[in-house]
Amino acid sequence: MIKAIARAVFGSVGPFKPTTIERRDLQPHDVLIEIKYSGICHSDIHTARGEWGPVNYPLVPGHEIAGVVAQVGSKVTKYAIGDRVGVGCMVDSCRECDRCREGNEQYCRNGNTGTYAATDRYGQYTQGGYSTHIVVTEDFVVRIPDALGLDVAAPLLCAGITTYSPLRHWKAGPGKKIAVVGLGGLGHMAVKLARAMGAEVTVLSQTLKKKDDGLRMGADHYYATNDPETFNKLVGSFDLIINTVSAKIDVGAYLSLLTLDGTIVNVGAPAEPMSIHVLPLILQRRSFAGSTIGGIRETQEMLDFCAEHRIAPEIEVIAANQIDEAWERVLASDVRYRFVIDIRTMKEEIEWRKK
Ligand code: NAP
Ligand code: ZN
Ligand code: ZN
Repeated sequence: MIKAIARAVFGSVGPFKPTTIERRDLQPHDVLIEIKYSGICHSDIHTARGEWGPVNYPLVPGHEIAGVVAQVGSKVTKYAIGDRVGVGCMVDSCRECDRCREGNEQYCRNGNTGTYAATDRYGQYTQGGYSTHIVVTEDFVVRIPDALGLDVAAPLLCAGITTYSPLRHWKAGPGKKIAVVGLGGLGHMAVKLARAMGAEVTVLSQTLKKKDDGLRMGADHYYATNDPETFNKLVGSFDLIINTVSAKIDVGAYLSLLTLDGTIVNVGAPAEPMSIHVLPLILQRRSFAGSTIGGIRETQEMLDFCAEHRIAPEIEVIAANQIDEAWERVLASDVRYRFVIDIRTMKEEIEWRKK
């Protein structure tokens, strides 16, 4: 077993405490990654607080992992020691079903293995990226292009791919009008990616507080959803709406903003059900859809796209002892626009504690 230093929650209400966890010994196709940066996703909070169902504690969250290969198993062909790599929300899947074979491992018929809070094929409970090291099979590791710093690459492994995949699936591009609801971690990536794909982008945020940022990121228009006039003004406007909001909202109110054949895609994943009236769907052949992360090939494609288009998330790098505070700020919609943990600070703190 390989020992890693980590930050874990020991119950549904924090705080984070330093701990050590064990990573499996390298199997022939495994890669040991020394984690450099780990992003904080709102899903970490939903999961750790048990909002999506019971989890085991201690729990080490984190599925936006960027680091460097430290060791490779005897049969690894894709990566070598020193390579800059990333790991996202899944670390395995059956790799045999039709979905896996077509590169949609996130929709594996047998369920993919989450990076944390899942049981892997070795019977071990998975623990995530708020830690110094992780062992992952090479098929679930992606390469981080040289043009991307490891700190900004980390959030792309979830926030980036979760917005890139539906934008591609629903064909974002020139001539398409796209709205992004919620300008947080996912939302700000959706704006940058949709813009780079050539679409006309509108942000629908609770207030106009972040308007300057949204326009700077590439949005063409910016509206406040706390202003009822917004919903009158924008009726029938959008081909695609990406809802990134982490809470239950009146999603029905957004349906009328879609044009004929328009689709609203929920990537935001509140635990509570959201109800809609079907008439707005029927009368303009609209769709209400969902999407989760993206496949491994598509994740690599997204990283290469970001490198080529010089797209990166806007991040606030924090030390390991600031995670609790960062989570509170995420919950208060006070994130600009992704917190990223500098994993070095985790090791330094342990060294300091030993003295
Ligand atoms: P985040 O950084 O907290 O952003 C969410 C944004 O939603 C906030 O910045 C805020 O934007 C808006 N918002 C929050 N509470 C709201 C409320 N009560 N009413 C209206 N708007 C509200 O979160 P994130 O990391 O981007 O994640 C967003 C959601 O996506 C979470 O539910 C997460 O679990 C989910 N997710 C899903 C997938 C997937 O595979 N489908 C992957 C990753 C994350 P404004 O201040 O601009 O209004
Ligand atoms: Zn995530
Ligand atoms: Zn499968």
